[in-house]
Amino acid sequence: MKKLCAAALLLMFCLFLFSCADIWASSDNTNCGSSDSDGIEAPSTALSTDNRSAPDSPDSPDSPDSPDMSVAPLTVIIDAGHGFGDPGSQPALLGCDEAEVTFGAALLLQKKLTEQGIASVLLHDGKSFPSCDEICSEADSLGVDYEADKMRDDAVFSAYERSIYANIIKKRTPEARYFYISLHTNSFEDSGVSGLSADYWGGSRCSAVLGDFCTSFKKAAEDFLKKETAVWKDSWEEAFIVTKYADMPSVLIEMGYGTNPRDVADLKSEKWLSEFTSLLSRLIYDFSDSF
Ligand SMILES: [Zn+2]
Repeated sequence: MKKLCAAALLLMFCLFLFSCADIWASSDNTNCGSSDSDGIEAPSTALSTDNRSAPDSPDSPDSPDSPDMSVAPLTVIIDAGHGFGDPGSQPALLGCDEAEVTFGAALLLQKKLTEQGIASVLLHDGKSFPSCDEICSEADSLGVDYEADKMRDDAVFSAYERSIYANIIKKRTPEARYFYISLHTNSFEDSGVSGLSADYWGGSRCSAVLGDFCTSFKKAAEDFLKKETAVWKDSWEEAFIVTKYADMPSVLIEMGYGTNPRDVADLKSEKWLSEFTSLLSRLIYDFSDSF
């Protein structure tokens, strides 16, 4: 009888442990990008105190060894910043438009991601972009929300239109998971200022994993590219449009200053751009189960 009671107690204890494991598993940050409700949330007043004077801590998270094949594969939406009627910054030292540099880097990043086995799509091909009518029409048919007064029928593929177009791509295959990365270069009046930065919106449902990603990016850029790198967890007011309106985990990377001699030499170097995009694609691979 005592043995039976002991066995029953052991069974109950095991069942208790399993139920706890379920609770723990449901509270982690994995697959945060797969939720339809991710991303566009009302701005939180709590975030108003969180500003650019408080970069994230440099601690690096443990990242998975390899992607978990049990979750839907990740597709990276690569946004080459600017282009068409919007050249971006045009510092004399850079000698070209920001848009040229971002598009070259986007193509290289796509190549590196393909080599890593990660699917990606360029938000534009450098030659054309979807018109305002096309975006609105497909958004309406797929049920993608947008604010009509923010859509402009002009020669510019605006940051807002890019965000809505990314949401359309996501809606076309709702079972897939997406990560949005926007590439840019910076400029500043003081030519001594150099380095990279990563921005994300602190109100995103995925802000914890985005924070881990950006912190890992900072560490890798400082260790391997030997460049100072800032991480900004932005409030709604501070956040870039694409990091708060793209309804998926979204990061904006500034690859360097077009006003700093060392950064310009790097941004114009195939070797440096190759190292930078390799680093970025490896990091995306490491986080591919978490977005
Ligand atoms: Zn830019």
